[in-house]
Amino acid sequence: MKDPYGREINYLRVSVTDRCNLRCRYCMPKEGLSLFGHNDILRYEEILRVVRIAVSLGVAKVRVTGGEPLVRKGITEFLRALGEMEGIADLSLTTNGALLEAFATPLKEAGVRRINVSLDSLDKEKYRFITRGGSMEAVLRGISRARDVGMDPVKINVVTMRGFNDDEILAFADLTLDNPYEVRFIELMPLGGDAREPFGSFISASEIRKAIEERHVLKEVNIGGNGTDGPAVMCRLEGGVGLVGFISPISSHFCHRCNRLRLTADGHLRSCLFSDGEISLKEALRKGCSDGVLEELILRAVNAKPMRHDIAQGTRAALRCRRMSAIGG
Ligand code: SAM
Ligand code: SF4
Repeated sequence: MKDPYGREINYLRVSVTDRCNLRCRYCMPKEGLSLFGHNDILRYEEILRVVRIAVSLGVAKVRVTGGEPLVRKGITEFLRALGEMEGIADLSLTTNGALLEAFATPLKEAGVRRINVSLDSLDKEKYRFITRGGSMEAVLRGISRARDVGMDPVKINVVTMRGFNDDEILAFADLTLDNPYEVRFIELMPLGGDAREPFGSFISASEIRKAIEERHVLKEVNIGGNGTDGPAVMCRLEGGVGLVGFISPISSHFCHRCNRLRLTADGHLRSCLFSDGEISLKEALRKGCSDGVLEELILRAVNAKPMRHDIAQGTRAALRCRRMSAIGG
């Protein structure tokens, strides 16, 4: 599928729930309210139908996310069904890692080969603070289990915030010296500003990179031939076995390379993380529509994909936007 600006759209991110077992301060209010009731979110069969049709239109890469995907009942079976779907070349999962230790083996057996784990601090008290109660040790155990069962790569996502974890940038980067992890520093995005606590302040990817370069020689590596891994610019520390990456949705948007569509847990297709333009698939699905109608709706979302986002810290667009937990990141 090509959008009006010539971008090949072949990547679908699927949020299976807006619920979560953590309450990261930049993502969720402390009550963690789920906006959706059981009947509001798509059933697995409905999601599988949408994915099958998207795959027939050219989607080859599917990432499952949330909320926290591992808290939804039946997630392993759902992932196995995706793993068995013809046409999906790349199936991956984004998780907070809290339940990963127990899930790593079944996930691998279900066909998930790559995993992204979010971890914003290597200090257990700070981690508990930012997640409002999470256990860093559990996440670290999950990460090493994922590595042991052969997930490759294991990516660690670090939302980097001045005054919270900017003093840990080197510690995170140093993890890649001896471990085959990909540590990816992500700029804080001002999404769903009304629901979040005003917490942490923005620090740009170039500043993060500079902090690492004060201590290490960084060499950009070619992944997929263009020095990028999706939106991340990937580098290796001299002597390191893993990689570090920099994701800069705010300071240097990568919209011109964006190949994504997002399916929200309540059955809406979004063609841009930062734009609230959505197309409801749920309505059509529940009216018993034909595959042709779903195809048309998916193509309509592709055609509505904006050329780029105009988000910046604190803009009205940022405040209006749905919370990240409802979209899936
Ligand atoms: N619960 C899972 C997790 O935390 O990995 C999956 C969903 S979470 C919404 C996906 C990613 O979005 C996480 O890496 C999280 O850190 C990131 N995220 C959430 N809110 C964000 C924000 N305001 N700015 C930048 N990243 C954010
Ligand atoms: Fe939950 Fe992930 Fe949001 Fe944290 S970032 S509250 S783990 S959905």
